[in-house]
Order: sequence, then structure tokens, then C-alpha cells
Amino acid sequence: MNMKFYRKLPIPKETKEMFPVSAEIAAIREQRLAEIKDIFSGRSNRFLLVIGPCSADREDAVMDYIYRLKRVQEQVKDKVMIVPRIYTNKPRTTGDGYKGLFSQPNPDAAPNLFAGVIAMRALHMRAIKETGFSCADEMLYPENHRYLSDLIGYVAVGARSVENQQHRLTASGLNVPVGMKNPTSGDITVMMNSIKAAHHKHVFCYRGWEVETEGNPYAHAILRGYVDQQGHSHSNYHYEDLAELFEIYKASGLENPAVVVDTNHANSGKKYLEQVRIAKEILHSCRYSKDVHSIVKGLMIESYLEDGAQSDTAVYGKSITDPCLGWEKTENLILHIADIV
Ligand code: PEP
Ligand code: MN
Repeated sequence: MNMKFYRKLPIPKETKEMFPVSAEIAAIREQRLAEIKDIFSGRSNRFLLVIGPCSADREDAVMDYIYRLKRVQEQVKDKVMIVPRIYTNKPRTTGDGYKGLFSQPNPDAAPNLFAGVIAMRALHMRAIKETGFSCADEMLYPENHRYLSDLIGYVAVGARSVENQQHRLTASGLNVPVGMKNPTSGDITVMMNSIKAAHHKHVFCYRGWEVETEGNPYAHAILRGYVDQQGHSHSNYHYEDLAELFEIYKASGLENPAVVVDTNHANSGKKYLEQVRIAKEILHSCRYSKDVHSIVKGLMIESYLEDGAQSDTAVYGKSITDPCLGWEKTENLILHIADIV
């Protein structure tokens, strides 16, 4: 085998014992999670913003960013619910590049997954404890989910994972809203099949156990744009895309029809500044059509302290993966969204 078994990592149960949630953290998280679920079930009409850096590359900058979000959340709390992105597991198109805090708790040092499993739990825990935010992460590796299962408030299944059986079946066992992204090819059927699979109950093998899931009625769509056979990006956030998704949902009979629109990735063609215009267009479509309004529950925005991205780690608070909207523009955008929703 061309694989060296380097060392055994602590399993989720062991890291939970090392970093247990206090009754106080558990209560805050439960309250936050209930509020997020209320948005997807339609019990609440607050607008959801899943917002933050593409990757949580360093704890100090991420906490600095989240503290700023907390201030804004206070101002807009009647209209907007903020769920910060703390993305600790990053998919890479070619496998090269920064794979997230889980793999490299220090992006300038060699991979260290032993420190990584602890770092990702510690950061999500700190966010709840210090700011009251239960945050979002991508479920890149389904077997890693339980490292965070008592902390996280929102889970995304990425464009490169959404067709995978293990992701779908694991999503059906989560007690957290899960957003299924459209695949990089843009095939909406793949996304809808994934949502359907996650809504259903399953018996399958998870981390060496035979498990049974209850089904997840809060699994929903995320539109993130797509790439064609020539490698060109195309958007799928326009009125026509949203109106069509409404019809697809209606025909499916799925409970809690919902979509979160990702304003970056192939929707912006990574022209991150366009996220402001894209967000405004989506909100305009919601005002134009009751149907669209009924399914669009929120936006996913890539944002950090500084505008753009960098190829090294020189600048504090600047993305080392996808380019992000900087803080000032982010704050203005959130306040604007709260004004018009
Ligand atoms: C992301 O949200 O940073 C991401 C990797 O998204 P996608 O799966 O849509 O490429
Ligand atoms: Mn990204």
C-alpha cells in the first residue's frame, strides 16, 4: 500500500471529552439552532446570511471578524439572522493548496491533523462562547462531522461532494439544516436528488457502525453557479433560475422548500466585488415574485476583513483561498439588506 499509517487521531468522542460543551454553551447553541430551523420551516421570516471567509485560516483573524459580525447582528436582529462561516475543511479542485484548519492549523507549517481536529473544535467552541454564534462549516468529509456535531448551526455539502452517497446519507442523520449545493456542472437534478435523499430515512455504514437515520427535513438547495465544458463560469441566481427552482420544488412535494443563494463562486465568477450587486438582484427578485420570495431563505456570502485574496499569508484577515468582500463593504451590505428585506 502506498500509504503510511502515521498516527491514530482522536475520535470525535475523545475530542468532545477533551473539549466538552458547558451547559451554557449547549443552551446558546440550542437556541440559535432552533432560530435557524425556524427560518427554513417558514416559522420565522428573518433573512439568513451565511457569511464569512472562504476558509478559516487563522483563529485570531476569524474571531476578530466574528466579533465585528456580532456588533452588526445586534443592529439587524429583527430582520436578519447571521450565521458566520467557519470553514475548517476545504475541498481543492486539483487536490493542491490549503486544505483548511483541519489539515493545517498553521497554514505556514506542514499538515498536522492531530492538532487540526482540536483546532477546528476549539474555534467553533470559542465562537459560541464569546459571541453566541453557532456557525456554518462544510461537511467535506462526512466522517468528520461528529467533531463539531454539538456546536455547528449550519452545514453545507459542497459542489464537488453533492452527488456522493455517503454525504447524502450522512446529511439525512444530521439535526442541523444542510444546504446541498448544485454540482460544478450545474445539473439541478443532482442537487434535488441529494435533497430528497437527505430528507429520507436510511440504514447504512458510518465510521464502522451500522446506523439508522431519521431523515433531515431541513435539507435544502444552495445555488452557486456552474462551469461549462469550456471552463467558463455561469450564474444561476437570476429571477428565471429562482422561479424555475420554485416550480421544481412544487413538483417534488418536498417539505420546507428552500434555497440559499451563494453570491460568490461560479455565480460571481469569483469577481468577489460583484457579490454586492448579486445580493441586491436576488432581493429584487424576491420583491418581484411571491413564489421566489417564499423559497429564498437567505444568501451565502464570502467575506473577510480585507478585500480579495492572496497567494501567501502575509496580510492578516485576507483570504488564502477564494477572494472575499472586505469588512467595510460587508457591513454596508448587511445594513442595506436589513433595510430592504
Ligand atoms: C465554499 O463554499 O467555499 C466552496 C468550496 O463552495 P463550492 O463547493 O460551491 O465550490
Ligand atoms: Mn470559497
